[in-house]
Amino acid sequence: MADDCLFCKMASGEIKPDILYEDDEILAFSDINPQAPVHFLVVPKRHITTLNDLEAEHANLVGKLYLAAKRVADEKGVAQGGYRTVMNCNTDAGQTVWHIHLHVLGGRTFTWPPG
Ligand code: 5GP
Ligand code: ZN
Repeated sequence: MADDCLFCKMASGEIKPDILYEDDEILAFSDINPQAPVHFLVVPKRHITTLNDLEAEHANLVGKLYLAAKRVADEKGVAQGGYRTVMNCNTDAGQTVWHIHLHVLGGRTFTWPPG
C-alpha cells in the first residue's frame, strides 16, 4: 500500500466506496462524480501508480480488470448497448488519482474521437 493513496485505502477497507465487485486482487466501485448514467472504476488492490509503471508481471492482473469490467457492465445492463473503458495515464490524459484505474462508462452514447 502506498502512503496517502485513496484507492489503496479503499482496497484495504479503510475507506468504503460503493462496492460493485470485489475479489482478492480487484475492486470495482461507483465513481463519485459520474460522467454517464453508469460510471464505475475497476482498480487492482495492489498499488501501481500509472500505466507507465506496468510490468510484464502485471499482465494477468490487467486482464482481470477487464473481466471485472465486463461482469459489472453486464450487471448494470449496459453490456448489450455498449460501454466505454478508459485508463488515463498521467496529467495530459487527465489522471488525477495516482493508482491505476479503469473507467467504465455506459448508459449513453459517446463521441469518437474523444475531446
Ligand atoms: P482520473 O481523473 O484519475 O482518470 O479518475 C479519477 C476518478 O476518481 C474520477 O472520475 C473521480 O471522480 C474519481 N474519484 C475521486 N475521488 C473519489 C472518491 O473519493 N470516491 C470515488 N468513488 N471516486 C472518486
Ligand atoms: Zn494505491
